[in-house]
Amino acid sequence: MKARAFAYVRPRTLEEAHAAFAAADGDASFISGGQSLVPALAMRLQAPQVLVDLAGVDALRGVHLDGDVLRIGALTRHADALTDPLIRRHAPLLAAAAPFVAHPAIRNRGTLGGSVALADPASEFPAMMLAMGAEMEISGDAGLRRVPADEYFLDLYQTAIEPGEILVALHVPAAGPHACCAFDEMARRRGDYAMVGGGLMAERDGDALRAVRIALFSVGPTPVRARGAEAALEGRAPDADTIAAAQRALDGDIDPMDDAEVPAAMRRHLARVLLGRLIRKLEADQ
Ligand SMILES: Cc1cc2nc3c(=O)[nH]c(=O)nc-3n(C[C@H](O)[C@H](O)[C@H](O)COP(=O)(O)OP(=O)(O)OC[C@H]3O[C@@H](n4cnc5c(N)ncnc54)[C@H](O)[C@@H]3O)c2cc1C
Repeated sequence: MKARAFAYVRPRTLEEAHAAFAAADGDASFISGGQSLVPALAMRLQAPQVLVDLAGVDALRGVHLDGDVLRIGALTRHADALTDPLIRRHAPLLAAAAPFVAHPAIRNRGTLGGSVALADPASEFPAMMLAMGAEMEISGDAGLRRVPADEYFLDLYQTAIEPGEILVALHVPAAGPHACCAFDEMARRRGDYAMVGGGLMAERDGDALRAVRIALFSVGPTPVRARGAEAALEGRAPDADTIAAAQRALDGDIDPMDDAEVPAAMRRHLARVLLGRLIRKLEADQ
């Protein structure tokens, strides 16, 4: 199949981008890297009259440290998460997740903003926003607003972004000197969407872990915070008993569904195994 014919606009500012979207009377799509949208157009799962290309909007570019928060422009490419020195130093969980996202050709075009705006429940970066406690900066009619990751993911492919709004940047708390993190996923083949994956952020306090945040993906319609498992780890040294307690607690954190590829019971089992691996990775990297 081929995409339906569409008009194409390339605005230079947020104001122009909003105006172009409004002029299409709602029958428009923003496009960033096109790595999810273009296949959807080609299959006619989406057929907007107008594509509003965000690539020329400077406000969506750049990675800057602002105090203890790293501002990552929405147009930052997946590949930059692997190489950008500020991301590697201050958001190491993103750098750890990046090699697992698709393949190099897609990572060279796909953007962090596009991934987090789309919010595929099997995607790595949206869940890492939850694990890092990031805030999403969104531009809309009322100007700019920020939405914490805990309030951003609403349902399957549904986020706090309203139609016509633009994800401008991701604001990530910079990892402090005692921060530690781990990422892992289980996929049938490297580069495939994962059957289960997750990221863990924490602070080391002697042998104990504090400020633990764990987010899993491919376990439900949105990325999921594993709050029970976090509580089981909080303030404790991650020894074998604590890991087992966190794995038991994880059962109450997720409610995976059966699908044609992976039965729910298997996903639950894989999530427990994954959590154990994440915690042991933290210790191995000490
Ligand atoms: C073969 C293949 C394998 C893949 N494997 C993986 C994988 O393993 N893991 C993974 O996470 N992803 C995977 N992807 C998806 C890829 O990571 C996409 O790049 C990403 O999901 C979307 O980013 P994009 O910049 O390409 O967005 P686009 O495709 O341009 O846009 C995606 C959606 O987000 C909207 N949008 C884009 N930018 C903004 C913005 N700034 N504000 C508001 N809305 C916006 C668009 O309107 C569209 O609805 C794969 C893609 C392909 C083709």
